[in-house]
Amino acid sequence: MKLESNLINTEKRTIISENEDTGKRNKTRCFLSSRVKQIKPSGIRRFFDMASRVEGVISLGVGEPDFVTPWSIRDAAIGFLQKGNTSYTEAAGLLELRKEISCYMKSHFQVEYSPDSEIIVTVGGSQALDISLRTILNSGDEVIIIEPSYLAYAPLVTLAGGLPVSLETTRGTNFKLQPEHLKQAINTNTKALILCSPNNPTGSYLNQDELEEISKIIIEHDLLVISDEIYAELTYDEPFCSIASISQMRERTIIISGFSKGFAMTGWRLGFICSPDHFCQTMLKVHHNTMICAPSITQYAAIEALKNGQQYVEEMKTSYRKRRAYVVDSLNEMGLECHLPGGAFYVFPSIRNTGLTSEQFAENLLIQEKVAVVPGNVFGEGGEGHIRCSYASSMEALREAMKRMKQFVGNLQSVK
Ligand code: PMP
Repeated sequence: MKLESNLINTEKRTIISENEDTGKRNKTRCFLSSRVKQIKPSGIRRFFDMASRVEGVISLGVGEPDFVTPWSIRDAAIGFLQKGNTSYTEAAGLLELRKEISCYMKSHFQVEYSPDSEIIVTVGGSQALDISLRTILNSGDEVIIIEPSYLAYAPLVTLAGGLPVSLETTRGTNFKLQPEHLKQAINTNTKALILCSPNNPTGSYLNQDELEEISKIIIEHDLLVISDEIYAELTYDEPFCSIASISQMRERTIIISGFSKGFAMTGWRLGFICSPDHFCQTMLKVHHNTMICAPSITQYAAIEALKNGQQYVEEMKTSYRKRRAYVVDSLNEMGLECHLPGGAFYVFPSIRNTGLTSEQFAENLLIQEKVAVVPGNVFGEGGEGHIRCSYASSMEALREAMKRMKQFVGNLQSVK
């Protein structure tokens, strides 16, 4: 190889000889990161792959709205594209969008964040979670995850060098975190709690009184909360309460939110973080180096969503509320015990009395009746014995799915 200067020459030669040398000595060297190797393959993926091979399936499996993004939002994006707004934005996101987010958070959820230094626009809530964890965790720090939980939490904690600690919630308390259990899970290595209310997969929602009890423990043990508020728009019986609005909690909360669920914008990949200045400014280093910024066109669409999208959110919510009532009643009628979840668009009925594991139930239901649901065991501790059904499907699809499930459960009982 021809080399350009002595300096480069030496550097390049060193690198080449190291590689060649290692290659000769150890042909089976593993190039994969041991951290990534710790992550288990996703149980939900295996199940979706299976469902995709069955024809005529009604899917209650996916965690996204069945609605298409409202036209006014799509139109706004098209308009901005026509104007040629296709460049990078500021790393933290368009200032106009951050101002809208700031107003939205204040008017809807009574939490105040400065658009100048306390808000970062991210690539979905997913990236918001990732950069939050990578910003706060040192090797070996423990993060408490309330299970059953969203599947990405534990892997993201591991990737950030932390140790995920699962804390089980149960049907007996409608899958709500119990303060005394939280206390027991804390030790000197605990740094943070990931809180997800309304919860995926259980739909469980923690109200202000419940959050106040949890906050006392967080403050007493000097912990941080990563509050995943991606379903904040979707509470049906009580207004949403953010843990950051509780006294002394703002300074120890990082809010994760986004447009995917409430505004039916999953494919746009837009989320945001609200947190005190010093967290945000440190997170920006991670964000800027990995993403530069969130997609510009999506950010323009989000401005429209916040300015004029609320009426659509309300319409979708009204529809979800009706579907929730229908699905919960239907499941209880067929003997699958199911509490009325306070938010999101999932129900998490018990399938214990069928005598099947959650995987057997989901697999047999898929094969025999062509209805896809997610086995509860994939969501961690406390998930076995349950299935997750999303009611973000049309009423027509839900009716047919419930009819098929009833038949499936009926057949199981007649076999017994
Ligand atoms: N948090 C929870 C609880 C979720 O259910 C999801 C999506 N399923 C996300 C975060 C990430 O959402 P997104 O990246 O689409 O904003």
